[in-house]
Amino acid sequence: TADPLTRYEAVIGIEIHCQLRTVTKMFCSCSVPDDGAEPNTHVCPVCLGLPGALPVINRRAVELVLLTGMAIEATTPDATRWDRKNYFYPDLPKGYQISQYDLPLAAAGRLAIETSDGPFVVGITRAHLEEDTAKLVHASGDDGRKVSLVDFNRSGVPLMEIVTEPDIRTAEQARRYAEELQLLMRSIGASDADMERGQMRVEANVSLRPRGTEPFGTRVEVKNMNSFRSVERAIQYEIARQAAALDAGEPLRQETRGWADDRGETYHMR
Ligand code: ADP
Ligand code: MG
Ligand code: ZN
Repeated sequence: TADPLTRYEAVIGIEIHCQLRTVTKMFCSCSVPDDGAEPNTHVCPVCLGLPGALPVINRRAVELVLLTGMAIEATTPDATRWDRKNYFYPDLPKGYQISQYDLPLAAAGRLAIETSDGPFVVGITRAHLEEDTAKLVHASGDDGRKVSLVDFNRSGVPLMEIVTEPDIRTAEQARRYAEELQLLMRSIGASDADMERGQMRVEANVSLRPRGTEPFGTRVEVKNMNSFRSVERAIQYEIARQAAALDAGEPLRQETRGWADDRGETYHMR
């Protein structure tokens, strides 16, 4: 069959988490560990979420998000605040993540990119500050039993989440946006933004609509892309998969899918 993009238009929004370039964590004085650090060596009552521990804001992390806001021509609020994102999972010792909901440190920005179709401007909805979670390691013990281990070194590391408007229309634009954002992060010194090392994590929200129509279709969120190339490939795959489903009259469901780079396909996560 013909290219699905002759019949459908893709609507894409990107969420990117960047690990900020700070010496210490978001709400405590633990140092941000290097990649090879021994598990649970950079922890304290605050980032372990122990009862009664009080968070103290990392000034540098706030400055780096404000700097990013200026670089993307965003507006800065007169006041800001923190919000609790409640969920229960072993990687989140407090039972909630400290994040920003309705007063992010940067709002309504943009980033200009070049693509093979010419220049393009991606609207950026917001950039806010939050804390990273711990890391779960699933392993087998000596007796073969399955165990899950928790490394709290990453717990409380400063993260900036940057969310775009649903402005992006092609997989290439999405890849170029991520590449340009990495360049920006590095040039202003906000983040090392190395995708392979998990310092920059890209998630793509993808939906299709028949060309010439306005309403957005059902969106699918795609995670686990470890390179710029996989961002482009995962979105291309998702566009083709969704077009085939729509052509077959199958309704799409809103879901989170992962990208399996070796198989070159997305799979249902939740
Ligand atoms: P959530 O917090 O559940 O991830 P958001 O409303 O913050 O949801 O949206 C996340 C991203 O999805 C944003 O980048 C937004 O532009 C994009 N998005 C929203 N609706 C759609 C859609 N129908 N198709 C594609 N992307 C979408
Ligand atoms: Mg999301
Ligand atoms: Zn700590």
